[in-house]
Amino acid sequence: MIVVENTSAASNFIRNIVVEDLQNGKVEQVVTRFPPEPNGYLHIGHAKSICVNFELAKELNGKAFLRFDDTNPLKEDEEYVHSIKEDVEWLGFEWDGLFFASNYFEEMYKRAVLLIKKGKAYVCDLTAEQMREYRGTLTEPGKNSPYRDRSVEENLDLFERMRNGECKDGEKVLRAKIDMSSPNINLRDPVIYRIAHATHHNTGDTWCIYPMYAYAHPLEDAIEGITHSICTLEFEDQRPLYDWVVAETEMEHVPHQYEFARLNLTQTVMSKRKLKQLVEEKVVDGWDDPRMPTLSGLRRRGYTPEAIRAFAKEIGVAKSNSIVDAKMLEYFIREDLKLKAPRTMGILKPLKVVITNYPEGQVEWLEAEINPENPEMGTRMIPFTREIYVEQDDFMEEPPSKYFRLFPGNEVRLKHAYFIKCNEVIKDDNGNVIELHCTYDPETKSGSGFTGRKVKGTLHWVDATHAVPAEFRLYEPLILDEEEEEGKTFLDYINPNSIEILQGFVEPNMKEAKPQDKFQFFRHGYFNVDPKYTTDDQLVFNLIVSLKSSFDPKK
Ligand code: ATP
Ligand code: MG
Repeated sequence: MIVVENTSAASNFIRNIVVEDLQNGKVEQVVTRFPPEPNGYLHIGHAKSICVNFELAKELNGKAFLRFDDTNPLKEDEEYVHSIKEDVEWLGFEWDGLFFASNYFEEMYKRAVLLIKKGKAYVCDLTAEQMREYRGTLTEPGKNSPYRDRSVEENLDLFERMRNGECKDGEKVLRAKIDMSSPNINLRDPVIYRIAHATHHNTGDTWCIYPMYAYAHPLEDAIEGITHSICTLEFEDQRPLYDWVVAETEMEHVPHQYEFARLNLTQTVMSKRKLKQLVEEKVVDGWDDPRMPTLSGLRRRGYTPEAIRAFAKEIGVAKSNSIVDAKMLEYFIREDLKLKAPRTMGILKPLKVVITNYPEGQVEWLEAEINPENPEMGTRMIPFTREIYVEQDDFMEEPPSKYFRLFPGNEVRLKHAYFIKCNEVIKDDNGNVIELHCTYDPETKSGSGFTGRKVKGTLHWVDATHAVPAEFRLYEPLILDEEEEEGKTFLDYINPNSIEILQGFVEPNMKEAKPQDKFQFFRHGYFNVDPKYTTDDQLVFNLIVSLKSSFDPKK
């Protein structure tokens, strides 16, 4: 696979097909669907599919449905149904219909009976292992099952017995009778029904036979009147079977399948199975852990629907697989928040500074713009007193050359406030720096027009007297940037430093911050108020993205 850093102006070949079909009257109205299986939470890859399907319908006056492809009771759950609906809505889409494949079970059964009657399906008693042996390989044709020539009557009787619960799981299957020597292995008498004595989240214990994806999906599309059934490339080889099912079951409406490349992101696992593993093995704290590429994780991290939609648009719809740089997603959230997020100051690793010549007990309220790039957002007031916090990382006792932050004898600017000069370093018994003693110059107040001298460093700070304690959660990619070696799995490449938790301070006006509020902390980056751990007494911020970026799609 190739890494695509920049896919700007990607064409949408599916849109071109739809437009052509509309123009030449092949379809009257485009009808698409997003068909998740409710066996996990949606991830950013699904978002791409959602955007493609829903935006196409919206733009071309069509319809887009949300359909739960719930044909496998063993893996599906109501919890997932709820989360999927929530995520699609959050992304900003409204479905024109909400459907469950399981509501078509009766119809699917009837069509299977029709196939049997036409001599196009048969009940087979081969075990799964035998069936694999009979299937052949890419270079060798398969062999006919010894059950292939059962009479229609026998097949009808056996299929009914399967339905009535007279057989155990795995004892029998219903197979389409197509061609065991087809070069396309999918057409070598694929299984279309299997037995599973399991309770289904929607149909309960009504059924103990369930249709296979390859049989169910085309029927679902046909029943709903889908015109363009958009799926990912791995289904390309299934298209002939898709068409066979629609034709042989004599469905009135004939949908067509189109495939596009699935989204892959660098340093990101993108399969529900693997994401579920991360949750179950407690590598993360749930599907909505801010390190997860799930939509609920991205939401908790602080990503906005606008940023995700813009990202999906930028990557476009391609016909070949690629890996997109995760930095591209970061670019879009920075762009979206640049004008929206209030600026503020927060100290992640506090170091106390006492301004020894500042009057004790005095409080000054300094005015600062909420967002200099968006003056309409107005101003905020920041207190300044004798004691403040700065970052530990902004002080060095013995600095290298070109270090412009605090060190003994050096003067810096405090953003929105004064110049301060470091005079004394206070240490504990172990020699750790615990406090700095500085003096300030009242002449240098920010906005006073002072031009006497210049300093090279500008630091952020928080007034210690009014500071609000806050927890900061900093994130790195969950997966290390390494090539997977043979015999290892993605679990061997979990980044041990994917989360760092710090206890710091924020400006007092942050007391009013609510879960999901987003801010730009001066010199740090964009942060989101965590909805899970923030309480009335404790503010928790998730790092969405740092300020720096090496990625620019316009380059
Ligand atoms: P996963 O492999 O993550 O379990 P899936 O394809 O099994 O995904 P479904 O619930 O079957 O998950 O997917 C619903 C729709 O989302 C399908 O049409 C599928 O093609 C699409 N989809 C899934 N993953 C991606 C992806 N990474 N990029 C684009 N579309 C995707
Ligand atoms: Mg699937």
